[in-house]
Parts: sequence; structure tokens; C-alpha cells
Amino acid sequence: MSSDMSCPKCQSENTQKISLIIQQGTVETEGQSNTFGSAIGSDGSYASGSSTTTINTSSQSQLAKKLETEIDEYRKKVGGSPIMGAYVLLTFIGVPAFIYAGYKAGSFFHATWIGWCVGICLFIVGAVLIDTLDKKGWFAPDEKTKVWWDRLDRWGEAGCYCHRCGAKFIPGSDEPHFTTMKVE
Ligand SMILES: [Zn+2]
Repeated sequence: MSSDMSCPKCQSENTQKISLIIQQGTVETEGQSNTFGSAIGSDGSYASGSSTTTINTSSQSQLAKKLETEIDEYRKKVGGSPIMGAYVLLTFIGVPAFIYAGYKAGSFFHATWIGWCVGICLFIVGAVLIDTLDKKGWFAPDEKTKVWWDRLDRWGEAGCYCHRCGAKFIPGSDEPHFTTMKVE
């Protein structure tokens, strides 16, 4: 399995799963390599890996943050299920409309409580309607969004990073990294 993890670009074995890098927040660097002798963390801390007897040096990783931010940004760009939009619509357009309807009903029947009931009932009907339509699949994400969700999941599970050349890859696949693609 370990050979499957080797970098497709530079054949380095110094690769790691992206999810693992983020989870640990650390980078493991081969200690024999003096070129990675020291690092300055994003918090200004100074980490020295000059000891050649240590097999691995670990440091708080800017890389982990970068990789995580990358995913977060794309998740935001791709967006969530449209159902959230439906609830936002219900809150910002539905509620004022229901209050207005309740006010009208209240003055029509000369009873404030009837107005309140009408307003609240309309809100509940709206929420139930959204829920029912959701179960029928009305708010299912469109194909493009689904493709992006799958893509981000795939990279989140299987994506690897090469510590030598910085290549991101999925072992056994030549799929380009999602940051090279445009979210439409
Ligand atoms: Zn590489």
C-alpha cells in the first residue's frame, strides 16, 4: 500500500493524507534532510529540527491550516442545500407577510387573538410545506452541487499531499485537485 501513496509527480514517499495533516495539525518531516532544519510557526514560534538523530520532526503546521482553509473556502463557494434558502425566505419574507395577514384578519374579525392565530398558523403551514417539499426532494442540490460535494468528500477521504514537491493527489487517480477547478 505504501508504494501507492508515492507522489505521482516526484515519486517521493514522503507523502501524507491531507485529512491526517489537518487532523494532527502537524507536518512530519524526514529528519535526515537538513534542508527542513527549521521552521517558524504562524504564531511566531521557532522550531528547530537540526538534530539528525531524530527520525521525524513535528511542528505546528501552517500547511495544515492552509489545507483546511482551502477546503473551507470551497465548501462555502459550493454552498449547502437549497433548503436553507427556503427557510431564510420563510423567515424574512414569510414572517412579515404572516404578521400583515394576521393584522388584517384581526381587524376584520375585530379580535387580536384571531389575528395572532392566523399569523402563527400561516407560519406553521409554511414550515410544514417546506418540510414536505423537502421530503419530496424539491430542495435536493442540483447536479453540479452534488458533483462538488462528492469531489470534496473524495479529496477529504483520499487526498494526499507530497511534502517534497507540494503535489496534491488521490492515489491511483489522476483527478486534478479541486482548487484547480472553478466553482460554477
Ligand atoms: Zn512530490
